[in-house]
Parts: sequence; structure tokens; C-alpha cells
Amino acid sequence: MNVLVINAGSSSLKYQLINVETQEILAKGLCDRVGSDESTHKHGLDENEMCIHTPIPDHDHAVAVVLEVLTSGPTKAIESLDEIDAVGHRIVQGGKYFDRSVVIDEEVIRRIDELAELAPLHNKAAIMGIRGCQHYMPDVPMVAVFDTSFYQSLLPKAYMYPLPYELCEKYAIRKYGAHGTSHRFIAERAADFLDEDITDLKLITCHLGNGCSITAVDHGMAVDTSMGLTPLDGLMMGTRCGSIDPAIVTYVMEKENLTPAEMNDLMNKQSGLLGVSGISNDLRSVDAEAEKGNERALLAYEMYSNSVKKCIGQYIAVMGGVDCIVLTGGVGENSAKMRRLIFAGMQTMGIVLDEARNREGSRERQISTDESEVLIVVIPTDEELMIARDTYELVHDLIDDYAFAEVW
Ligand code: ADP
Repeated sequence: MNVLVINAGSSSLKYQLINVETQEILAKGLCDRVGSDESTHKHGLDENEMCIHTPIPDHDHAVAVVLEVLTSGPTKAIESLDEIDAVGHRIVQGGKYFDRSVVIDEEVIRRIDELAELAPLHNKAAIMGIRGCQHYMPDVPMVAVFDTSFYQSLLPKAYMYPLPYELCEKYAIRKYGAHGTSHRFIAERAADFLDEDITDLKLITCHLGNGCSITAVDHGMAVDTSMGLTPLDGLMMGTRCGSIDPAIVTYVMEKENLTPAEMNDLMNKQSGLLGVSGISNDLRSVDAEAEKGNERALLAYEMYSNSVKKCIGQYIAVMGGVDCIVLTGGVGENSAKMRRLIFAGMQTMGIVLDEARNREGSRERQISTDESEVLIVVIPTDEELMIARDTYELVHDLIDDYAFAEVW
């Protein structure tokens, strides 16, 4: 079965066509700067195999452009649209309504739209992507996979904020989390890798990239996560500040005479590794400068590792222990140096990194010593595959239901 996975951002549309049975990626690409005069379309399994400038005024056109390259010309991956059996859409915000992936119908679209207040750019874009697919493939079943659904298992003591209760209720203020599809994928994959049942494990999953988040997964259920109402909360990131003393927000706004939008921009786009180092949001560039003796770059590097270390400690306390710590994302998968800093000094907690294993490439593997009480593993994440799998499972159920109905 072929599933087209669509990840629509405010001005972009990423896609992958996946054969779910073989897990083969048949095609992938990205429509970027949708809605501007400079829209581009990159397509191909190798990066930049094809990159063209083409007008893509909106997400409906983006879907048309994608379906065209999939079915015609030198980029053809399938003979016709009939070979797309289902579409899986990544949705950023599922609020309290969706604790799992669902088949898309008008009611689901209405809910996604209602939740746009919590993720204005993303949820509106997702709806445009869904409508585009409905337009060109009206009979193909579609599934919504939410970044937040994995966190609907959090208890109120974990998801509530200590603000006036009525205010939280009035504005639906609570922890929703983010990166849920990635955390769910690496948690399940780690259990397979360890040959254990996920319901027998206490896991801490760390997604460390430009965006960073950590989740405590207790016997298969997320019990806490570092991102909050929005993906600004928690760890220090590439350009996001993560958790800071909330009093800093009003203090800086008053001193610098900033509007809420300007302050939001400062915390989301000018902080984190970039803000501290003054060099880059990219860890490799920060590291290169730190190696040359740049003190602010070194500080940024150390703050990033410290932020991860503290969160791991919190979640060990929350779960009363941990069996396995899982790392993923550009930094988690690739930076041996960052991993060394994160786990330095954790021996007394039974967490011992194996230096040689840590230095090996970025493939899936154990990087703790055989004697370490807690396992540390690297698992490359694959959100698209997770979306394709959810889609496959739900659509299969749907087809089974139809078959059952017909028999009767
Ligand atoms: P995003 O959150 O945007 O998906 P990624 O998961 O791709 O980001 O992670 C990007 C980060 O990973 C960047 O900070 C980059 O420097 C870092 N990174 C990628 N490869 C390496 C590497 N080999 N060594 C150190 N850092 C790396």
C-alpha cells in the first residue's frame, strides 16, 4: 500500500510517498515559499536532485505540483494517482480532542480549524493541504496524525500550569507538548531494539535538533514532556530560549519597549544557541567557534548540554528511575561531543556512556557500556514513516469495515 505523507507548514509543503509494506520511500520533496514570488520545488530521493522555481500561489497548487511530478515526466514514481492508496497529514495541534490519529472527515477538519487559535500558522496550513488533496483525490481516504496526541495521557498534575484555574480553563491553557510523533516512533523503536515490550519499560526520549524536547514514557504512556502550551517551552534550542524565569518577559518588554509580537520573536527566533553565542543556531558552527576559544560559543554549548542534563534528571525523578535513554534529532544522532557532555558525571545514577560506541557513526545502536544499569541508545527518528504506518492501520480498519458491511 502506498501512502502519501503530507507535512504542510505555513509557507511550505513537504511530502513523501512511502510503500508501507516494504517501508521504501518512493519519492519525496518540498515545496517552499508557497504564496510568494520565489516559490521553489525540490524533488528527489537525493537532496536537490531537482530544484525548480515555479509559481506556487497556495497549498492547493502545491498539491497539484506534487501530484504532477509523482505521475509524469522524468520524476515519475507511479503510473497514476490510483496508486496512492491513502494520504497521511501531519497536524501540529490536536488539542484535547485527539488522543490518537483519526480518519479525516468534515468534523475532524472543523476541530482542526477550531484549534488553529493554539497553532495559527500550522493548523490553517494543514487544512489547506487536506483541502488540496480532497480536490485532486476526492475518493482517497485521509488520516490526521497529531503532534500532540501522544501527550493526551499526561495527568492534570503534569499538564496544568499554576496560574488561576479559571484563566487556564477560559483559554485552554495547558501543556500540549510537541514532537509527539517523533517521540512515539523512537520509544517504540527502542523497545523493539531492546527486544522488550514497551509496557515493561521506563524510557526517556530526547529529540535534540534545532527544536529540542524530552519526554518521559512510563510503560508506554507519556507522563511528562518538556514542551508546553507551545513549542517554546522546555529545553534551550537553536533559536528558542526554552524555559526562563517568566518575570524576564515583562521586564524585557518594559525595558526595551517591546510589543508582545516583538517579545515573541525575540524568544522564538533570536535566543537559544544563536542568542547566547551570537554566531549561529547551528550547533556545528557554534562548536567550531568554541574550539577556537570563543567564550560565548563555549557558554552556549555548555548551556545546551546542561539544559538536557537537568531535564533527564527531572524525568528520572518523575518516573522513579529509568531503563533506557533514547537520543534522536540532528544533535542527538550525530554529536558525540554533545552526548559526552550530557552524560558526564551521571555514573552515580547508573548511567555510563561507552566512549568508543559513542564515537561511531549516526546509525541505530547502544552507546552505553555493557555494565551501565541504564541503557543509552541512538535511534534515528522517522516521523514520516510513523505517519504512514498510522495511516495504513486506520485505513485498513476502514477497508475491513466496508468488507464486513458488504458481506452483511
Ligand atoms: P530540526 O529540529 O530543524 O529538524 P535537525 O534535527 O536537523 O533540526 O538538527 C539540526 C541540528 O543538528 C543543528 O544544530 C546541526 O548543527 C546539528 N547537527 C547535524 N549534524 C551534526 C553533526 N554531525 N555534529 C553536530 N551537530 C550536528
